[in-house]
Formats: sequence, structure tokens, C-alpha cells
Amino acid sequence: MDPVTDSLDEVHRRLSGLRDGAVADYIPELAGADPDDFGIALVSMAGHSYRAGTTDKPFTLQSVSKPFVYALALSDLGVDEVLRRVGVEPSGDAFNAISLESGTGRPANPMINAGAIATTALVRAGSAEERFRRILDRLSAFAGRTLDVDEAVHASEAATGDRNRALAYLMRSAGSLRADPEETADTYFRQCAVRVTAADLAVMAATLADGGRNPVTGVQVVAEPDAVRTLAVMATCGMYDAAGRWMLDVGLPAKSGVSGGLIAAGPARFGVAVYSPPLDASGNPVRGVAALGVLSERFGLHIMHRPGLRAATVTGAERLAYDGRDIGLVTAQGVLEFTEFEALVHAVREVTPTVPGRVVLDLTAVTEVLPGPAAGMAAVLDDLAERGHRAAVAAQEPFVRADAGRPRTWEVFRTRQEALAWCASG
Ligand code: GLU
Repeated sequence: MDPVTDSLDEVHRRLSGLRDGAVADYIPELAGADPDDFGIALVSMAGHSYRAGTTDKPFTLQSVSKPFVYALALSDLGVDEVLRRVGVEPSGDAFNAISLESGTGRPANPMINAGAIATTALVRAGSAEERFRRILDRLSAFAGRTLDVDEAVHASEAATGDRNRALAYLMRSAGSLRADPEETADTYFRQCAVRVTAADLAVMAATLADGGRNPVTGVQVVAEPDAVRTLAVMATCGMYDAAGRWMLDVGLPAKSGVSGGLIAAGPARFGVAVYSPPLDASGNPVRGVAALGVLSERFGLHIMHRPGLRAATVTGAERLAYDGRDIGLVTAQGVLEFTEFEALVHAVREVTPTVPGRVVLDLTAVTEVLPGPAAGMAAVLDDLAERGHRAAVAAQEPFVRADAGRPRTWEVFRTRQEALAWCASG
């Protein structure tokens, strides 16, 4: 039983029936993707991972590679040099548009193809092989496991990618690409063909969210300022021509790709990924956009959202002897949003005594509980009761309610003393 997974499962169930959008087919090998594949994965800053649906099936990164290679170029050359070669302004043009700054030939940003191809060429290396090896190594470090290339997808794009090759030649003639256009386009096609799963993508997104530190492996993959810069560019340019609407509705730095991958990062909170191949008119995965919309609202994930009290929310997790009884006590304060809720659930798990035990949640200093965490906490309390525990909540307001039509399986008191006394009495 795990309420975070339950939430993902519920969103997954709710959106599985969404049949809008179309699988990309301009790269012939992508056309065979299964439109029913749909997975959601989330990784917290503690490295805990949660999944629903198809999260182990490999697919190619495509444009989701762009922010990670940008982060690598930033760490190789520094922000000033990278900015001289690739801008950071939303272009308002299609992802594959032939648009370069007049005079300099500089592409608008690293999330459109021209900018991504120029960025790939910035990765420091003595040869094209070494450049790709460094890119693959770094992508692997972001994912926390060794990634590989889908050779069939690479060959398919190499055979049909004249437009991207043309962009490379154009930048070469304008002076904004110094490397060989053919080699650069091929390295870019290879990075797009690197194979990942939704579970990998969630770790990669969580690494950006955690200031460049992979929260699963503990490895610092890029320096914190470069992770922050990458998230900033994702926030303004990551969702093709729907980046503004995405920021309005969902409010997270994100990047999508034509194979159906989508990552979003809650800075210092979590990384999340969705895999679902059908794309909307802007090129973003239909179910991915819908899923993040629901999760953002339910857990208050929008980065512009009033952040509430940022002091430690779970302030205590202990086992204490009360009237000769062994009781697990978890104390929290402030606003319970996603991060705090996830920590609270872990704390409850840690202090729960053996069955039949007693658990008290002291929420007397909690001021607000968002709907997602409230439903999740009710599920945790139900689960404790089902397993034969006696559970009580101390709170000033009825933050945690039973689902409509279900009996409440825990007792509610105004003070911690009353809750402890009741727990000890049975
Ligand atoms: N390899 C693809 C291309 O360059 C990636 C595009 C995307 O995912 O937006 O056309």
C-alpha cells in the first residue's frame, strides 16, 4: 500500500481512455509505436520511485535529450560561451524551423532543433566518436544506468533527416556552427536515438530537480548552477509552441519529444516522466500533458504557487511508551503539499509498531492540507486500520476526511494528549 503510487495509478486509469492525438511518423521507425502504451513515473529527492503503467518499456529520447546535452555543454564551456553560440529566447517558430538570428546565425534556443544541433557541436571532444561517447556517458549518469542507442531509429532518422542536415549546413555557412555539418547532424540523430524508459526519465528529471545530483545514485552529474540554467530554459522553451500555455496550466520546467516522452521537474522536490506516443497539434504527448495537469493541481506543484511554510514539515517521528503502550507518533506542521506528504507517509511507515499497534498523527500545527495529500492520508489511515492497528489524528480542523460513503476508520481529537490517551486505552 502506497498512496503516491495510488495517486499515479488513479491518474493513469482516468486518462488511459484518452484517444486524441497521433503517433509521429516523419521518422518512419517511430510510426510503429503502440498508441496504448502509457506510463507515469516519479522520483523524489530522497530517491524513492513510484510508477504506474508502462514504465519499463524502452523508447528513444528524441527531443528530451536536448536539455541534458545543453547541461553538458554548459559544464564544458561555461554559460557565457554557450550563450554566445545558442540563445535562450522562445522562438515562436516550429521546432524544426529554419530560423536563425540575422547577422550571427545564432539559433534562438537549445530546445529547437537548430539550437540543439549547435549545442551538440559544443560538447568538448577531439572527434565525433568521442563527442557521442561523452554525451552517452552523461545521459547514462543522469539516468543512473548505462544507456544504449536504438540503431534502427538512428538509421531511420539518418536516412530521412535532410531538414536537420540542412539546418546544420545553414549554421555552418552563417558561421554559428564550426564543426562538420554531417558529423554534427549524425551525432544529434544518435543522441535522439538513445533508449530510455519512463522510469529512467523520471530519474533524469529528478537529477535536474536536485541541483544536478542524481538522487538515486548520489552522483553529482552537472554543477548546480548548470542544472538551474537548464531548468530555466526548459521552463520557457521546453514544450514546443505550447510552452506558455503549459507554464500557465501546469507550471513546471518540462521537455517533451516526438516519441512520446515528457519530463517535468519540481525544483528541489521531484522529477516526473510520462510515456505515451500520441501527440497533440503542438507535438506534445496528449496523455502526458493531461497527467501533469491533474498532478500539478492535485498536489500544488506549480512553481509559482504560494509555497506555504518552507520550514521542516514532518517535525517528529518516534516510538514512545504511553501508559505502558508502544505508540508510533508522527508530528507535522505547516502546509502539507507533495514533498511533505511523501515524507509523512515514510515517517508513518517507519514508526508503525507490529500488529496490532497504535499510531497517532499529530497535525495540530498543520495549517493546510492539499486535496491529494488529504486523500492519500485517509488511505494510509484506512490501511493501518485494515491491518489491525488503532489510529488517531490530532488536528484543529478536519483536514483528513473519509471518502464519501465510507466509514471513518480512525478517531479524531483536538489535542495530542487526547489522541495518545485514546490509543493507549484500547
Ligand atoms: N530527432 C527528432 C528531430 O530532430 C527530434 C524532434 C523532437 O523530438 O522534437 O526531428
